[in-house]
Amino acid sequence: MLTCRHLIGHLRRQASTAVARVLAPGYVEVQEDKGQTPLKYPQVWLRDNCQCPECFHAATRARKSHWERGPVNIKVAKVDYNQEHQKLEVIWQDQHKSSFDLAWLRERDFGEVARRRYLDEVYKPPAQLWGKTQFEAVRKEFNYQDVIQEDAKLQAWLEALAVQGFAILKGAPDDINVAKNLAERIGYIKRTTYGDVFEVKSKPNAGNYAYLMTPLPLHTDMPYYEYKAGINILHTLVQSASSGGANTLTDGFNVASEMQRLHPADFEILRSVPVNWFDIGHDGDALRPFHSIWRSPVICLDVEGRFARINQNTTKRDSRFTVPLEQAVAWYRAYDKFLELAHSEAVEFKTQAGDVFVFNNLRMLHGRTAYEDAPGNKRHLVGAYVDWDIIYSKLRTLKYPNAKD
Ligand SMILES: [Zn+2]
Repeated sequence: MLTCRHLIGHLRRQASTAVARVLAPGYVEVQEDKGQTPLKYPQVWLRDNCQCPECFHAATRARKSHWERGPVNIKVAKVDYNQEHQKLEVIWQDQHKSSFDLAWLRERDFGEVARRRYLDEVYKPPAQLWGKTQFEAVRKEFNYQDVIQEDAKLQAWLEALAVQGFAILKGAPDDINVAKNLAERIGYIKRTTYGDVFEVKSKPNAGNYAYLMTPLPLHTDMPYYEYKAGINILHTLVQSASSGGANTLTDGFNVASEMQRLHPADFEILRSVPVNWFDIGHDGDALRPFHSIWRSPVICLDVEGRFARINQNTTKRDSRFTVPLEQAVAWYRAYDKFLELAHSEAVEFKTQAGDVFVFNNLRMLHGRTAYEDAPGNKRHLVGAYVDWDIIYSKLRTLKYPNAKD
């Protein structure tokens, strides 16, 4: 029944002389100690979450009741707090009986502090936005073998990806399976139209702009996917001996935040005007054709107004811009400001053979400076993707291995 040890640590208090009472209209209150803020729950929620075997199947953590209609009209007849067992006991007007452990109720406190704690600690660690001047402070490095072998290191690495948005692994072997092995260490690799893994090297008849030696402007991968790849794992097998081939990186959420602060009207345009992102071509030995399109703004927010996804890829932005004529010109002005900010906040660093550069593809803009291959020195990277659903799930199983509900 205890969800997460960490969370419980905050919440467990001494057994106390709690008092329960029905509040009109439609709430139940549990007052643990005089002077303490009471825990307050909607009656409908208590009935919806009744833990009795008739209403709840504990083994699968599944609700068994209310499959057809909600319990909106069922009211509490009587509540009591059982001191000995530390349970809230409820008798309903239809004679049904429920009881709730106080610890279980505390974890589900509707109060703002408890909600914030759950969202930040269990749901998703909050992103720490950073600009160019903070880069060295937020840059985290891990040893590849440590991450493969030790769960604590794997957890720290995944937390860095969630919070800082990127991390670098050092000391990976000269093996084309490194990116795939890391993806499988987390869970499952994301297959795309470019295959399980993709090789970034200068290719004759390149099917993607990244497969040229020219500079690659700041971008996110696959804005043309509704289910855009969550993280990008880029393993450097051979780095260019030429002066180029360096990585460029900008925190796209930070750029969006600066847009919001400095240019709110332009921010609103980039948040609301959908852009057509596309990818038409073929890849792989089978030359399997693809035709991907996803329409989405440059800046995407989640339901709480927080940054959720940045779309930017000049090479994958369609000339078809299917918005009303008058929106297009305003959008270009806003987009220009976004790019200017992104470039002014970009950092540059050059990975070495054995480095694995991993970053949040929903958040970071990345690019590459131009380079030149030479006989005996052909820049060669292997990449793979993993989705955030898989990463957050892995992170929670590492943080809360005994979670039951
Ligand atoms: Zn029940």
